[in-house]
Amino acid sequence: MSLSEQILSKIKEYQKIIIHRHMNPDPDALGSQLGLKALIKTNFPEKKVFAAGGPVNDLDFLGVMDSVEIEDYQDALVIICDTGNTPRISGAEYQYGAYLIKIDHHPNDDPYGDLLWVDTTSSSTSELIALWARELNLKLTQEAARLLYAGIVGDTGRFLYPATTSRTLQLAADLISTGFDFAKLNQQIDGISVKVARLIGYVYENLICDEYGTGKVILSQAILDEFQLADHETSAIVGVPGRIETVLTWGIFVEQKDGHYRCRLRSKGPRINEVAKRHDGGGHPLASGANAKDLAEVEAIYKELQVLTKEFNYKGE
Ligand code: AMP
Repeated sequence: MSLSEQILSKIKEYQKIIIHRHMNPDPDALGSQLGLKALIKTNFPEKKVFAAGGPVNDLDFLGVMDSVEIEDYQDALVIICDTGNTPRISGAEYQYGAYLIKIDHHPNDDPYGDLLWVDTTSSSTSELIALWARELNLKLTQEAARLLYAGIVGDTGRFLYPATTSRTLQLAADLISTGFDFAKLNQQIDGISVKVARLIGYVYENLICDEYGTGKVILSQAILDEFQLADHETSAIVGVPGRIETVLTWGIFVEQKDGHYRCRLRSKGPRINEVAKRHDGGGHPLASGANAKDLAEVEAIYKELQVLTKEFNYKGE
């Protein structure tokens, strides 16, 4: 039995299915979670399917979470989408289910679950769910297609990043052919508030970049307060430094209320996820996240990025 068929057979076996994703959700986390939920609901209407996890913040145009009680986990199949390691799973109750499936495209550093489908060559977890539906010939509604398309667009930077493949584009075309309003969805994903637009100006003005192309911007609580922005709203500016031709790697260091820094690391070449792993984080080779306890650790992370970037300048991949 293929992995796709094994997952399908588990779904058929359980009457209750609870789907989780990672904390601080992005469009791929929600797209894969809610897209899978929509697929199961359409193809197996008799099943109870829940989406579990914390607040979705400004991504509520994709959907919201269900209220799930601890008793619901009894005899339930739990599926975790788009989450590389267990501490990042939103909703610790996931562990009370009867059987656990991991579906993901992050490096499999934490191989949790009873059944795992991890494909790091996939642009997104939403792409994997779309592939799963195609392989098994499942009925795909416009709503499921919209959600999966959102995830693919989110994680590929609208087909910009190198993880985009011909398979990504073929599946995206299949999704669009269901007829949902993809232009509206793109605007919802891409649209920014005036506050965020001003912050983008700040990022361009205050970006520090060394001679090898290592960039950094520190967003202190004072700056976030000045721009009246919450941490989650900074996701819209993470890609901004990369638009500058000479920037090769970069970090956006966002001070949190408790004084530690959430570090959002990105790269156009050098693999940065090992740096993230050394600082309480992880992620993809070109897009990772980490945590720094203070400004000294922020500087240490920046120095490690500088070393990688300099080496890359001399040796390439
Ligand atoms: P972000 O900068 O939060 O958009 O995250 C970029 C990528 O790194 C995503 O694929 C995340 O799943 C991953 N990531 C972010 N923070 C962490 C963390 N603390 N531990 C492991 N992976 C992370």
